[in-house]
Amino acid sequence: MPDSSWRLPPLIRASIVLHGLALALVLAQPGLWPWALGAVVLNHGLVAAVGLWPRSHWLGPNWTGLPAAAAARNEIALTIDDGPDPLVTPQVLDLLDRYGARATFFCIGVKAARYPDLCREIVRRGHAVENHSQHHRHHFSVMGPRGMTRELQAAQDTLAAITGQRPQFFRAPAGLRNPFLDMVLTRLGLRLASWSARGFDTRVGDAAQVAARLLHDLKAGAILLLHDGNAARTDAGVPVILEVLPMVLESAAAAHLRPVTLSQALA
Ligand SMILES: [Zn+2]
Repeated sequence: MPDSSWRLPPLIRASIVLHGLALALVLAQPGLWPWALGAVVLNHGLVAAVGLWPRSHWLGPNWTGLPAAAAARNEIALTIDDGPDPLVTPQVLDLLDRYGARATFFCIGVKAARYPDLCREIVRRGHAVENHSQHHRHHFSVMGPRGMTRELQAAQDTLAAITGQRPQFFRAPAGLRNPFLDMVLTRLGLRLASWSARGFDTRVGDAAQVAARLLHDLKAGAILLLHDGNAARTDAGVPVILEVLPMVLESAAAAHLRPVTLSQALA
């Protein structure tokens, strides 16, 4: 379990100090109020901007790579988002089996509820189903703590009821978040996971281009982001992940890297 005593993330602590300093400045030198206000406005802009930066650690703990012990074991993680998808996911599972690879599926709660057997099949084949929110709302990163809690809790309940396993990891829709998320994750016992590399495979249908982005600088401890749901199509109409995955798995095998689930990497 993650640390149950929640502490304010570093950027939020720094922001509170800055607000205090701004107030002290106005009390001591009322004429300088425009400077104090300017500093506070800039600070709010910075906090909002950091929420748009998926790989940042300033709003709380965030996996942008596997723990050092997992990297030392030559492990990497394939994370596959936005499913399950009735057309794509079964083919992804067959490819993973062919290479003896394990993956983490960040599933959307409502899709999982639509295809529960597919979710159970993911787990039956040795992979992990984790929390990618209940609805994958585009405005997730501007929700307040109550809205975020509802989205995460609903997905926890949905996925646990289907697979019998409570998710341990959360990935934010599009990787975007705000300062409330860290507190909500701590309350629900979830870890935030982002990635070390992504191929933009919901938009780019060119498999070579997607694979090149993922494999650039591939090394032990990498977390790669792919999509079985919302996958872009190649010119031939094939979901791009189905062409990218064999390239990624071949490269990983050639480099003696072993794809494991995020929870295996914790062990
Ligand atoms: Zn997503």
